[in-house]
Order: sequence, then structure tokens, then C-alpha cells
Amino acid sequence: MVSNISILGSTGSIGTQALQVCDKHNIKVCALTANTNTALLEAQVRKYKPKLAVMTDIACAKELKLLLSDTDTKVLCGMEGLCEAASIDEAKITLNALVGMVGLKPTLSAINAGKNIALANKETLVAGGELVTKSVKENNVKLLPVDSEHSAIFQCLEGCYRKKDIKKLILTASGGPFFGKTYEELTDASPSDALKHPNWSMGQKITIDSATMMNKGLEIIEARWLFDVPYDMIDVVVHRESIIHSMIQYTDNSVIAQLGLPDMRIPIQYALTYPERYESPVSELDLADIAKLTFYKPDEATFRCMAVCKDALKKGGLAPAFANGANEVANLMYRQEKIKFHDIATLVQEAVNAAPKISAGTLQDVLDADKSARELVKKLVNNE
Ligand code: NAD
Ligand code: MG
Repeated sequence: MVSNISILGSTGSIGTQALQVCDKHNIKVCALTANTNTALLEAQVRKYKPKLAVMTDIACAKELKLLLSDTDTKVLCGMEGLCEAASIDEAKITLNALVGMVGLKPTLSAINAGKNIALANKETLVAGGELVTKSVKENNVKLLPVDSEHSAIFQCLEGCYRKKDIKKLILTASGGPFFGKTYEELTDASPSDALKHPNWSMGQKITIDSATMMNKGLEIIEARWLFDVPYDMIDVVVHRESIIHSMIQYTDNSVIAQLGLPDMRIPIQYALTYPERYESPVSELDLADIAKLTFYKPDEATFRCMAVCKDALKKGGLAPAFANGANEVANLMYRQEKIKFHDIATLVQEAVNAAPKISAGTLQDVLDADKSARELVKKLVNNE
């Protein structure tokens, strides 16, 4: 089991659950980071006594420094601080629980410093999959999935003797709060309804991504890079109860699945203890109690984001970075009630169409693609 961890995004949904796993197993914490939640980061620093605390926001970092002046914890700010936290000497593993593209540089910093990465920050792999997986290989480090579907596939693959025997990866999707609704019914769907996820309590960005099913689209791209399989080997099935977290199907049509209660502390803990297993803070799965598991085909005509992501993956190169960047802006604009529910898919599709057919060779290429996609969305929405 890891003895010391750096947690990027420790005040978020994944970050706080990771700290519960640390509590359970007495894992030391050497770095913690947050964007603007000074009060929670201060409380976390007082409890875990890390060597370093980072607030991305400069004013918040100044405030935190004052608040922590009686402690030994160093306080830094901005992207430089995040990269220092990601690569800090003491860390045996870095958990990236940041939301969005802001996580890409810190992921690369950690990998370049020889750290194993527990990755919740899926946007990093969607936009920079080629870069990240290449640098993982070059630095001979482990990339351990935290996303529940990818952790499930990772666990199913442990029993796989030959990769060529795999026919398909099958990702499960809860269907989100708008499962079963028609396209017309969702025209005026409000952000507050979209934020009511039936099974998972998560940050706002991913909860909206679940309502549009962009989350499943992002996860298809994430799976492509984590498991090095072509897009047409990745299927999605809607499974309302979120008990089966994902599956693999072999050439003989035998299917292996991973099951558990919908609680992120299992995949978070497994990324930290891999390849060993320990007791977790999560209860036992009682299948008789659950009684029924249901499955449906995804409605890709109503929830167009998934098809748009497959399109981006087929197009390759910088198209996934365009899709991700456009979605980050559109997702926020929807939460701010500046655009409607279906506009998100339309804007992401526009960005994928606009992506140039060039490879995602360098970090600068990916950052530029992200920037262009964001500018395109703002231009389309504001009629600039
Ligand atoms: P969240 O919004 O709850 O937390 C995000 C964390 O990142 C917070 O600590 C916040 O301070 C920090 N942060 C946000 N914006 C930042 C910025 N600009 N600069 C620096 N730090 C910033 O999000 P979450 O739900 O914990 O999700 C984190 C990541 O994990 C996302 O990529 C999400 O897709 C993925 N994920 C989450 C869940 C879940 O159950 N929450 C499940 C699977 C995957
Ligand atoms: Mg997931």
C-alpha cells in the first residue's frame, strides 16, 4: 500500500473521498490543493499536516498563507504550485482529482518526476491521451484509473491472459437524471434538474456531463487511451442501478464484469493499493437486496454528445481536445443558464467539425486546440 500521497483537488468530491480512504489506512498526505475553497483546505491542512498546500487562485493563496502562518505547511499558488504538488519528492503516488483541462500540465509533471498517477481527471486523457500515454511509457510509471468504469475494466483485465482474446469493452452508463426523456421534453431542461443525479453524488461539471451523456463520450475516449483499443471495440449499455461498473467481452462471448455499490471509494482505494486489496469503507454488495438489474440501449439521438465524442475519436488527432474544450465552456454556460440543454451537443459538434486534421503531437498543440475550441464556443454563443 502507498505510504504517502499528493492529492490534487482535495476539496472536491473525489478529493474528499480519497482523504476518507487515507484515514482508513493511515496513508500520509504530503500535498493538498484547491481552487478557491480556502476554509476547507485550511481544515484539511490542519488535520493532515502536508508539506505543501496550493491554491490556484492567487488571492485565496495569500489568505491561506496568513491562516496557516502558525503551521509548517508551505503555501503556493497557480499552475506552478499545482505542478510542484504533483511532483513533490515525498509522494509515492499523485492522485489527480482536478476537474478539467487544468489537470493536464500537473499530470505530465507528476509523470516526468517518475510518480505513479491515480487519475480521476478524465479530461486530461481525453484532450492529451497521446501525450500522456507516451510519457507514461517513457518514464515507466503506472497510470491507475479512478473513474469507476475504467477501474472496473482494469480489474476485469487482471484475469485476461491474452489481449487478442478481447472482443469488446462494455462501459455501463446510469443514463443520468434524464433517462427516458424525449428530445422535445429536454428542450427547456433546467440545470437544477440536470444536477439531480439518481445514483452518484459528484461535482457539478461531471453531473451535467452525466445528464447530457457527454460523460460517457469522454469515457469512451478515456478507455481508448487507458486500454489501447480502437473506438469500435468500445460499447456502452445503460444500466440504471450502477451496480455493474463495466465489463469485458472475450472472443468466445464470455463476459466478465466488476460489481459493487456505487461508491467511488472502492475505485479510489484500489488505485492506491493496487495490486493489493484491503478492507474498504464501503459496505458489502447485497444482490438479493437489490433484486433487479436493468439494461437498455443508449438513446444517441436524444443524447447526441456520445455520438459526437465517437466522431471525435474517429477523426483523431486534436478532435478530442476540441470536443473536451468546447464541452467545458458549454457545460459552464448551461449551468449559468446562458444556453439550453441541446446547445451543448450542438456546440461540441461544431468544435469537432472545426478541428484541423493534425496529430496531437505536443503539449502546445493540445493547449492551442483547447483554446481554439473555447473561443469558438464563445463566438458562436455571443454572435461575436
Ligand atoms: P469537484 O468539482 O467536486 O472537485 C474538483 C476539485 O478540483 C476541487 O478540489 C477544486 O478546488 C479543484 N479545481 C476546480 N477547478 C480548478 C482550477 N481551475 N484550478 C485548480 N483546481 C481546481 O469535481 P469531482 O466531481 O471531484 O471530479 C474531479 C474529476 O474526477 C473530474 O475530472 C471528474 O470527471 C472525475 N470523476 C469524478 C467522479 C465523482 O464521483 N465525483 C467520478 C468519476 C470521475
Ligand atoms: Mg465514470
